[in-house]
Formats: sequence, structure tokens, C-alpha cells
Amino acid sequence: MKKTILTGLRPTGNLHLGHLFGAGQNYIKLQDDYDFYLEIADVQALTDNFNNPEKVRKNVTEITIDLLSIGLDPNKVNFFIQSKIPEIAELTVFYSNLVTVARLERNPTVKTEIAQKKELFGNNGESITYGFLGYPVSQAADITTFDGEVVPVGEDQLPLLEQCREIVRKFNSIYGETLKEPNAILSDAKRVKGLDGNDKMGKSLGNAIFLNDTEETIKKKIMAAVTDPEKIKKDDPANPEVCMVYYYHNLVNTKENKEKVCSECKKGSRGCVQCKKELIEAMNDFLKPIKEKRSYYENHPEEVKEILDNGTKKAQEKAKEQMKKVKKAMMIDY
Ligand code: ATP
Ligand code: MG
Repeated sequence: MKKTILTGLRPTGNLHLGHLFGAGQNYIKLQDDYDFYLEIADVQALTDNFNNPEKVRKNVTEITIDLLSIGLDPNKVNFFIQSKIPEIAELTVFYSNLVTVARLERNPTVKTEIAQKKELFGNNGESITYGFLGYPVSQAADITTFDGEVVPVGEDQLPLLEQCREIVRKFNSIYGETLKEPNAILSDAKRVKGLDGNDKMGKSLGNAIFLNDTEETIKKKIMAAVTDPEKIKKDDPANPEVCMVYYYHNLVNTKENKEKVCSECKKGSRGCVQCKKELIEAMNDFLKPIKEKRSYYENHPEEVKEILDNGTKKAQEKAKEQMKKVKKAMMIDY
């Protein structure tokens, strides 16, 4: 029997290079060998977008199209919508007894995200909602509803996976061996940096190159990307390791071109403007086949709907089975 993968994305915006290199390329590699459930996490997206339901709704379709465009095969991957699986919400309630508020407040991912959302949660997180603080619990429910054994994610998700494993252990120790402990799989690019040099390119951080950005937008973004601040004149030698332009050359350019960029930058024989122009070209070439596939799905919305409907049906069946096991273990199987 194939092992099960559960992973998810929040419908808060289109996919960017961070998703592609940090998670998506792993999904593509793994889709042949696993029973694969891919969650469009609309309920989780609402935890910090509760006041913007239109955004979440619109991005359910957008993100599904993005995932199909990068090469996920709907015959191998079950795409499903989180809110259509009520068992996840039910499990979240059960798990909320197994985790302390202090533990959630200490979670490094939650801490970083609260700090990024000052407008919503206050300068020191004093207006944090119950729902946002609890989203790691609901993410544990996502994974275990599907008996997810393998979870391909970016590095920012590791503390959330650890939280899930703790909940599983606690559940099993109280109610008997019922749930599987999931393992994360990281890709080679486990954390893709933002255009501003920030540690993480994020949909909600304003520092991303999206897979469906127009050529005009890509040009603007790359021309404004952060380069080595020590390089003042065109022929100053510089350090490519601190330059975001070199960083993206590394992701999307050929091996030969990458080496050329690196050595010329170190020698001072290439200016940043030229380097950026070459990156713009390489980026557009890299994104071209993805955009072509996207335009197919944009013109076939009924196919996208059918893919989501079919995947959601399969997910509903799996969730029902799992819930029976959980309720029996908890002695609430009336
Ligand atoms: P949001 O800001 O709304 O949380 P996001 O960009 O963090 O959006 P998610 O939908 O939360 O995207 O994450 C989807 C998956 O992509 C997760 O596995 C996450 O770890 C991965 N991911 C997101 N950004 C990056 C990145 N910059 N580098 C590597 N992986 C990433
Ligand atoms: Mg995120």
C-alpha cells in the first residue's frame, strides 16, 4: 500500500518562487509514489483574513490553477477544499484539549507571524485571536484526518509539524495507539528568500516574484531587488553571496550562466544593471511554460472545478473513515 501525503497551501495569493522551489518541486517528485492529498486551506487562510473573505474565495481557484500549471497531475493528486471536510474542524476541537496556550504562544512560527501582522494583532500581539493562536492545532487536524505520514513543506513549517507530532503522541498515550506521527520532507531550497533580502519570500510579505507576474512587473521587481550594498560603482568587485539578483540567477539560470555571473561579479567586470537585465530574461524564459499551462486552465474553468470536486469527494471518504477510528478511541462513538 502507498504511504499517504498530506500537505497544504493557504489561498491568500498566487504561488511565488518560494512555493515552487520550497515545496512545489517536491510535490511533483512525490506525486507518483504516494496517495497524495493536497489541501487548499481556506479555513486556515481565514484565521488572519477573516475580514477579507473575497480574497480567500478568489484564491482557491487561483492557487489550484497555479499548482496545475507547475505540473501537478490531477490524476495523481487529490486537490480538496479544507472547509468541505467538517471532520477537520471536529478534530481541532478534540485536539484543543491536548495543547496548552503557553505552548502555542512559544511556537516560533506563530511568534514570527504575529510579529509580521501588527496591524491585525497589535504591536505585541495583544489582540491575537483565539483562532490564529490555535491554527497549529487545526493544522495537526489537517494532517491526521488523512493519516498523513509524509508532509512536504518549507522550513518555516517545521515547528508546526513538531506541534502536530506532540499532539499525536499525547492523543495516543491517552486514548490508545490511533494516529500516525507525520514526518516533514524539505526540498533542497528549504527557505527561499524575498526580493528585499528577507529570510522568507512570502505571499503576504510584499517581497515575492509570483509565477503569474507579467513581464512588466518582473522587470520592475528585479530592477528594485537588493544587491551588495558595498558595491557603489559599476566596476567595483562585489560579493554575490549577499546579492538577491545572484540568488535568483542561482534558482532559474543555467549552470554555465550562474558561474559566469558569479565570477564576473567577484572580479568587478559586470555591473548590477546588466546583471539584472540578464536575470529578467532568464526569469521570463523560466516562467514561460508555467504561464502557458496557466492560460489553458484559465480558459477551462469547468475543468478546474471538476478537479476540485473529484479530489474533495475522495478526501471526504477518507476523513469519514478516520473520524470513526478517532471517536471509537475517545469513547464518543455513540
Ligand atoms: P502566507 O504569507 O499567506 O502564509 P506563504 O507564502 O507563507 O503565505 P503558505 O500557503 O503559508 O504560503 O505556504 C505553502 C507552502 O509553501 C508551505 O509548505 C511553506 O513552507 C512553503 N513556502 C512558502 N514560502 C516559502 C519560502 N519562501 N521558501 C520555502 N518554502 C516556502
Ligand atoms: Mg505561510
